[in-house]
Amino acid sequence: MKTIGLLGGMSWESTATYYKEINQGVKEILGGLHSAKISLYSVDFDEIEKLQHRGSWNETAKILSRAAQSVEAGGADFLLICTNTMHKVAEEIQASISIPLVHIADATAEKLISDGIKRAGLLGTKFTMEQGFYKNRVSEKYGIDIIVPNQQDQEIIHSIIYNELCLGKINASSRTKYLEIVGKLFSQGAEAIVLGCTEIALLVQQQHTNVPLYDTTQIHAAKAVKLATCKNVS
Ligand code: GLU
Repeated sequence: MKTIGLLGGMSWESTATYYKEINQGVKEILGGLHSAKISLYSVDFDEIEKLQHRGSWNETAKILSRAAQSVEAGGADFLLICTNTMHKVAEEIQASISIPLVHIADATAEKLISDGIKRAGLLGTKFTMEQGFYKNRVSEKYGIDIIVPNQQDQEIIHSIIYNELCLGKINASSRTKYLEIVGKLFSQGAEAIVLGCTEIALLVQQQHTNVPLYDTTQIHAAKAVKLATCKNVS
């Protein structure tokens, strides 16, 4: 079995989900007392969040590259960055290590393609919804049309992520707001909604809507399990 590298803590609420999903996945495949081999580095999210909102992405890249090197030194065969947003500096992180980075947008797009989805709505932080690093990768590399909420709805999504979900607060009123936005994207032609922030599934799950949801945390974790338990890592 390969050792899975996790760069986590962004926030730890979702890293806990990764840890659980990955161990459950390995147990399902290998059975008995098997559990995942994991090398995890969990950062202090306060520091990262301040740099993000100041636009100091180079600084975040330096911190996360050092953390990724620790993950590699801990024996990881490949690396997952346990947040969609910080894939903004994925290239810099990849350049600082010699193990492969398993990109969350690639894992998600592969799943959308295998389900025949051609147009998807994207929910995430404003950084993920506004900037090109995520949605352009999905549309240009995989030919999937990505639509995002309007400006006002983006503010709502973003604020709930940082002020509630990353702090472990789950509010029914916020779920209602998210579901309204999901409904709007569906009426604009989205065949599915990408939960492009690793905390969103703590609030909104498939049981809450008929619109197909693609949870990036679950998809990314499942890909890691597959890579760890099969013979070759690509
Ligand atoms: N975990 C979130 C994501 O997937 C947001 C926290 C962060 O900014 O990294 O984008």
